[in-house]
Amino acid sequence: GVSVTNNNKVVTNGHNNVSETKIVQESVQDLQVARRRLPVFMVKNRLIDEIKKNDTMILIGETGSGKTTQIPQLIHEQRLEGAGAIAVTQPRRVAAITIALRVAAEMNTEIGSIVGYSVRFEDVTSPRTKVKYLTDGMLLREAIVDPLLKKYSIIVLDEAHERTISTDVLFGIVKLAQKERNDKKQNPLKVIIMSATMDVDSFRKYFHNCPVIYLEGRTFPVTIYHTKTKQDDYQYAAVCTVFQLHATTPANHDFLVFLTGQEEIETVMYNIKQIAKEATGPPIRVCPLYAGLPPAKQLQVWREAPPGTRKVILSTNIAEASVTIPNIKCVIDTGVVKERTWSGSSGAERLWVRACSQAAGWQRAGRAGRTAPGAAYRLFPAKDFAARPQHHTPEIVRCPLASSLLLLLAAGTDPSTFPLIDPPPLDSVKASLQLLKEFGAIDSETNPKLTALGKKMSMFPIDPKYSKVLLSAPEYNCLEEALSLVAVLSSENVFHTPIHKREEAFKVKQKFLSPLGDHITLLNVFKAFCKAPLKKQWCKENFLNHKNLTYACDVRHQLLTICEKLNMTVSSCGQAYDQLLKCLVCGLFMNCAWLVGGGGGGGGARRYVTVAGVAAALHPASALQALGGPRAPPALLYSELLHTGRAYMLTASAVQPHWLTQQAPAQARRARNNR
Ligand code: ADP
Ligand code: MG
Repeated sequence: GVSVTNNNKVVTNGHNNVSETKIVQESVQDLQVARRRLPVFMVKNRLIDEIKKNDTMILIGETGSGKTTQIPQLIHEQRLEGAGAIAVTQPRRVAAITIALRVAAEMNTEIGSIVGYSVRFEDVTSPRTKVKYLTDGMLLREAIVDPLLKKYSIIVLDEAHERTISTDVLFGIVKLAQKERNDKKQNPLKVIIMSATMDVDSFRKYFHNCPVIYLEGRTFPVTIYHTKTKQDDYQYAAVCTVFQLHATTPANHDFLVFLTGQEEIETVMYNIKQIAKEATGPPIRVCPLYAGLPPAKQLQVWREAPPGTRKVILSTNIAEASVTIPNIKCVIDTGVVKERTWSGSSGAERLWVRACSQAAGWQRAGRAGRTAPGAAYRLFPAKDFAARPQHHTPEIVRCPLASSLLLLLAAGTDPSTFPLIDPPPLDSVKASLQLLKEFGAIDSETNPKLTALGKKMSMFPIDPKYSKVLLSAPEYNCLEEALSLVAVLSSENVFHTPIHKREEAFKVKQKFLSPLGDHITLLNVFKAFCKAPLKKQWCKENFLNHKNLTYACDVRHQLLTICEKLNMTVSSCGQAYDQLLKCLVCGLFMNCAWLVGGGGGGGGARRYVTVAGVAAALHPASALQALGGPRAPPALLYSELLHTGRAYMLTASAVQPHWLTQQAPAQARRARNNR
């Protein structure tokens, strides 16, 4: 539990042991009945009083108690927001969307009217919107244009425990905005910080000792099981566990399996469906839940399965706290999460699958005890759990800051005095400022001010390395291509490779492959997609993901609009892809790697070292690998480094070593020394 500091203890006396299932098709009355049973609803009057009384407050309550869906509605019902609107931030895009849809249904209104959402590249709001769910990143973007966030009279910072960089920075922005607005007594701002679990003391201190309100929901005991030994393959272990439990538990017990990402979820889903055909026990309905899933598919998770059918939900850690799924009786916890980390000193960014914290483990297990006693099966030994850290480290301590620094500077704040709960490591700040300087986005590292280029970079809602690519593109005559490529890279995987048709998909993919590497291959796919008349059918035939490609088109359109606003010349380099690759080096010079050792023939010899000095191999799925040329390229540029025991470069292209020397001499020198 959390350490109680003082304060108003709001206690609910009711039970919450109703199964809230079937959404969407539920009648308005049903939805209202479900609402009234939520712990938040039972103390609604007291909550409203507290909200009226305090400028700032922290609200803590079990996942599923109704904080995210109900509090904004309660506020709006009382018209506490006055002439302004209510912003509710979410660290995750999927959560912002699904929750907004749910709230719109509960309020019996159309999404985009009174209730709306705004996530990157998708704004479903109108001037009438009063309750707006948005990702923390989007609210930060709004702060560039309006640092006082004057549109909102109430800002709810939800899932505060997640401690994403954007949330942490947003805390500071909101704190400064509130001070300025409330000091002047003009358009005062109320701030509500919400979370299931968190380190209350540091938050409370940060928000001038504001009151903390605890909501006591009802939860049921969850029995925890661990495996006796370490599992080498957690996906395999998860599938086995599903079927062991499937044979022994009643059909109305739904399962929730925690995995790390889309591909993994798709693989496990396929395996479960295959085995289910022959397994004994009730029929199984498998529902995936991850960030890239279309909203309609996400809602499947909340739809009741036909009687006698078991639902098995395969989710990323989004189901850990940000969304609540009813009726889960068994949680199967692989104990891992995909996380981005970065070392400021070496500049090496990595995406890796790592063990989650104890707090995450308890949250995950808790999902099984929402409506009745349940069980959690951890696919790792108890002593491993005990050895894990209590909480995960805030992102700001382990991630690149260039993007946030750029935003802070664009919002007119001074990064050196900006209030943060946990300051990032000094070398990380230094490295990020150095990078921004190398991009030409700031004039000095000691007293940074945005340059004209930096201002332009901050207008793109994408990572600075990609906005640098776009802004460099006119010089290389390749903005057409750069836009398409950045758009595709902003979307989830465009290749759809069902495991049972791997060979066939591989054959079909050949026609898109470019000997230059994955970037041009992706561009080929995107170009072909744009030309295809019957896109859905065409994607199916070509083993491509229609939804992700459509999303990329949308993203491209929005990026193009920004380029046009900036009067950039949109021209094409045609087949002269060297131009595009050179342009990529302008933004991704930190993502280059050099061949070390012989490099002739066989996979084993192809060892690379990145600019940051990390030993890395080309990912087996790379086009460069698939074409299996006689020699490994002497230098590569990659979009992402994935660590799964070993470091793999994802989405890689061959580049000329002298491009790097020309465009990023400092990095080239560093790379040479690291070799
Ligand atoms: P909290 O923020 O306190 O974790 P929420 O407000 O997210 O709680 O959820 C309250 C309840 O609303 C949950 O118990 C869940 O059953 C229900 N709920 C939330 N979102 C949805 C949805 N998209 N579909 C169906 N039910 C939902
Ligand atoms: Mg919530």
